[in-house]
Amino acid sequence: MILMYHHVCPLPEIPPVDQQARLEGWRYTIAPAAFEWQLLEIARRGFRYVTFDEYVAELGTNRRNSGYLATVTFDDGWRDNFDYAFPILQTHGIPATFFIVSREMDGVAGDRRMTPNQLCRLKAGGMTIGAHSRTHPNLALLSSQSLADELRGSKEDLESILGTSVNYLAYPGGRFNRAVVKAAQQADFKAACSVIGWGQNSEASRFWLYRDVFSDRLDSLSDRLRLNAWSRRIFRWKAARLLGRMLRVRTHE
Ligand SMILES: [Zn+2]
Repeated sequence: MILMYHHVCPLPEIPPVDQQARLEGWRYTIAPAAFEWQLLEIARRGFRYVTFDEYVAELGTNRRNSGYLATVTFDDGWRDNFDYAFPILQTHGIPATFFIVSREMDGVAGDRRMTPNQLCRLKAGGMTIGAHSRTHPNLALLSSQSLADELRGSKEDLESILGTSVNYLAYPGGRFNRAVVKAAQQADFKAACSVIGWGQNSEASRFWLYRDVFSDRLDSLSDRLRLNAWSRRIFRWKAARLLGRMLRVRTHE
């Protein structure tokens, strides 16, 4: 299971609506205390946290316990991830992956994103940095030239900051189609995340890995079903149906 987060921030610090830039995604905010509780509760229910590398290495092994592996991801590179989520993750020894929009780091899109230096500190703290394109476009609408620039380009931007290879990608807004998957493979990414929930990841979903967002208290019926490895297998059809819809996205070349 891959957990997906955006902002981890005390609710009073959410900027007023008229000061929010477009696409900042504040509706996907969890308060630090709720975030910490959720991580521990998921572990208490039998899931074991692993790095993204370990998670991907398990795809296709079909080992009996792989359904109870969990890995934590964050999209967009918000600075609150560094300020609030990182210390909590470190306290509990939980690894996580941060998908960064490489041309919208601090200084470009206001001061709410992480700086290159903060990314290096995350990495030094055992975290993984992944790519989330250069400018967060709808990849499914791009020409093959721009697609390569957004994907390979963001990988190169981040690799030059970190000095190591960046192997994983999350599609901005979760939007992708066949051309996008192909471009991700050509840019030498090893796996990519969608925003489709419910699925059971396997080798077949390596380039549209399913991710889950839970309610703060993990108490909805959907939360309960998704926190059970057996019911995830049963409800796979729901993910497959959503995926069918995604792959029909038209491209304009
Ligand atoms: Zn995003």
